[in-house]
Amino acid sequence: MAKYNNNFQNLKKNYLFIEISKRISEFITKNPDVSLIRMGIGDVTLPLVPAVVEAGKKAFDEMGVKSTFRGYEDSGRGYDFLREAVGGYYKDFGVELLTDEIFISDGAKSDSGNIGDIFASDCDVIVTDPAYPVYVDSSIMGGRKVTFADFNTPIAPKDSIIYLCSPNNPTGEAYSHNELKAWVDVALANNAVIVYDAAYEAFISETDKARSIFQIKGARKCAVEICSLSKTAGFTGTRCGYTIVPNELMLTSSDGSEIPLIQLWSRRQGSKFNGVSYPVQRAAEAVFSKEGQQQIKESIGYYRKNAKIIMDTFIELGISFTGGVNSPYVWFDCPNNMDSWDFFDFMLTKANVVGTPGVGFGENGANKFRLTAFNTYENTVEAMARLKKVLLNKS
Ligand SMILES: *Cc1c(COP(=O)(O)O)cnc(C)c1O
Repeated sequence: MAKYNNNFQNLKKNYLFIEISKRISEFITKNPDVSLIRMGIGDVTLPLVPAVVEAGKKAFDEMGVKSTFRGYEDSGRGYDFLREAVGGYYKDFGVELLTDEIFISDGAKSDSGNIGDIFASDCDVIVTDPAYPVYVDSSIMGGRKVTFADFNTPIAPKDSIIYLCSPNNPTGEAYSHNELKAWVDVALANNAVIVYDAAYEAFISETDKARSIFQIKGARKCAVEICSLSKTAGFTGTRCGYTIVPNELMLTSSDGSEIPLIQLWSRRQGSKFNGVSYPVQRAAEAVFSKEGQQQIKESIGYYRKNAKIIMDTFIELGISFTGGVNSPYVWFDCPNNMDSWDFFDFMLTKANVVGTPGVGFGENGANKFRLTAFNTYENTVEAMARLKKVLLNKS
């Protein structure tokens, strides 16, 4: 019999969303007439903006005409038109990138997992707790040891890999330039590599927060940045993202010689990835057009308004929270320090609102809860009214 990768035995059971679905369906079976409001899953609800749809349609039409048909893309790294559009976007916040440092992907989840292919299995991994589960799971699959850190307590064991996510899922916190610089400095001092997930970068509204790790001096020598159009432009079902690998970033081989990380990543992608479809890359290009940027700003503004309603509710209730300002997530303390699953049940059965129990993102979430701003305005208002009613009645 073929043998499987033993590291899979070390994965935690991925039961969070399965358990959530189970509890919801049990509740619905018993209470078929209740209208649930779902504010748990991190998926967008607004459709693609017109500029994007138009560009995608036009590109599909080209694919049906002999003279403009395209087969495989040469490099699989993305067409220049899109990589140049991404480069132009970074220029707007003061980051200069070479086109060849930009790799177009089918999203941030796969790249943040796949990047593990190029690291040795004995590299230590640092993940801030709570965290998006991909960093931990993919590190364990690669046989690497994971150590947890606090969001704002930079640590870097020698030659380690550090996963950072800002604005953070689930906490909604974002690093200021100074806070991020502290991580970059400690990484540089210990020859560590930072894998920086900037999937929510477009939600940043405060000017002291970093939009990209490459705004920080020295980051080109220690960081890779992974980004996505999923939350920014509603691409969760369309699939497109990009990963930035600076030329200066080096890794060491076991014999002590150095090799640019970009060379290893190019090799990895060349062997295992055949690029993003042409129509999707054209649709993605339209996100960066003037029209596209205006249109996605409206969508992001809609979610921001929802986040504000959630934040205002917690301020009124005197419950402390993070996020909302630079992120579509609000992360808060369960009232009376309740266990996050108990609070999930309380919300489900008493308020008929579904959220995400914090423990699903790590031990530091045991008494925390995440709500998302991705539902409709009307549902968000209604959910907060219900929440206020049950929490005020309770005490
Ligand atoms: C949603 C999300 C992503 C995006 O993943 P895609 O594969 O691009 O859809 C990446 N990182 C975090 C932290 C996320 O929450």
